[in-house]
Amino acid sequence: MQGEMEDKCGIVGIHCKDDSKDVAPLVYYCLYALQHRGQESAGIATFNHEKGLEHYCGMGLITSVFGDDEIKNLEGNMSIGHVRYSTTGQSKIENSQPFVIDFGDGFIAMAHNGDIVNSDELKRELIDEGFYFKSDSDSEVICYMLKKEHYDNGKDVADAIEEVCKKLVGSYALTILIDGELYGVRDPMGIKPLAVAKRDDEFILASETVAFDVINAEYVRDIVPGEVIYFENDEINSHMLESAGKCKLSHCMFEYVYFARPDSTIDGINVYKTRMNIGAQLRKLYPIDADVVIPVPDSSIPAAIGYSRASGIPYGEGLIKNRYVGRTFIMPTQEERELAVRLKLNPIKEAIKGKKIILIDDSIVRGTTSKQLLDLVKEAEPAEIHFLVGCPPVIAPCYYGVAMATKKELIAANYSTEEICKQLGIDSLGYITIPALVEAIGMPKENLCLGCINEEYPTEIPEGLEAETYYKP
Ligand code: SF4
Repeated sequence: MQGEMEDKCGIVGIHCKDDSKDVAPLVYYCLYALQHRGQESAGIATFNHEKGLEHYCGMGLITSVFGDDEIKNLEGNMSIGHVRYSTTGQSKIENSQPFVIDFGDGFIAMAHNGDIVNSDELKRELIDEGFYFKSDSDSEVICYMLKKEHYDNGKDVADAIEEVCKKLVGSYALTILIDGELYGVRDPMGIKPLAVAKRDDEFILASETVAFDVINAEYVRDIVPGEVIYFENDEINSHMLESAGKCKLSHCMFEYVYFARPDSTIDGINVYKTRMNIGAQLRKLYPIDADVVIPVPDSSIPAAIGYSRASGIPYGEGLIKNRYVGRTFIMPTQEERELAVRLKLNPIKEAIKGKKIILIDDSIVRGTTSKQLLDLVKEAEPAEIHFLVGCPPVIAPCYYGVAMATKKELIAANYSTEEICKQLGIDSLGYITIPALVEAIGMPKENLCLGCINEEYPTEIPEGLEAETYYKP
């Protein structure tokens, strides 16, 4: 459900073989296309062998962080960028990325999408060795581990990355500027997406292919889980981590269900097509007789089209989303919280009144937003509401960079579907099943992470580790 969970970040990296070119404007446009992956902070770091390292980060949307002057000051033919959301208590500039450590005889700049589940333990080791931390992000932990292996222990960059990755447990897609070169790294389970494209003199790394489309770059391929890539002599060079191919692939199913833009293709699977398939699968599971199929915009539009095509029931817009709502203030009263939902979504009474409607949403996490949304829909006086959900019940938290809720806040972890249906006050409620979702994605089940819907996580979870929860005032 929109607003109840967020992915951690979007990352970009650009390498241009012409060192007279500045690539920061291209990174800016790529980040613009990835804004849906994080709205809390944005940053870009650039490097040129003559001019050295520059970087700039700020809180807010990419358009409010960067103006002409900031982009002009970021000179260099190599660059990385990052958009980030924040979790409770962490909405601060120190946690914005790219994370940069500059220590006189070298520097590392890194953009990270993911979460390292053993970062507390790794951080404690580094603190014992005298490292000082300025943020509470696990990306800083990776940076210092890399510094230690490459600059202090003298390993070459590929070996240093190998050594660091051996110790990391969790999810990571990284773009790194180190030793005047750009590297891209994807964790051996492939939890987070990362792909590479080519455009004129540039190679581009990005979380989603939509970033390539906006700058007219040609998609080359996805980074293989466990692969480290860098660019030399106009070629992609590849180094496979020792762990590559030895652990279970675990692509995050939520990328397909909700996070990624529908116009992106991840690991060879188009997101729009997957969401259409989700709609068709929902039809198979719930062949409801209704007058109209209505999506909760925007992420559920393809699923509603899929249901409509499979059933012959007309597709209709019944909710209008205000696309210009940014942050809303902390709402202390119920009335104000309802106002925040009304600001974002408004029902079209004429499209709903007296009709039997099938309302399709991508997921239910805590259930509070669904309740408010359905209360709004009820005001438009439909004859019946059948609520279908494109993600199986979310029964457990995510530890890999998707902040949603703790187990006690997850409605499906605490109530049955019948109980939730009753709480929502609707005629029926149906979730897609895990087998139907897997079929809609079209990837073998064993290659997907389904941790939050079946509690089978692809890594050990340290005892007592708190899942991050999403908090948006
Ligand atoms: S636990 Fe859920 S949200 Fe987290 S990576 Fe796995 S599938 Fe994605």
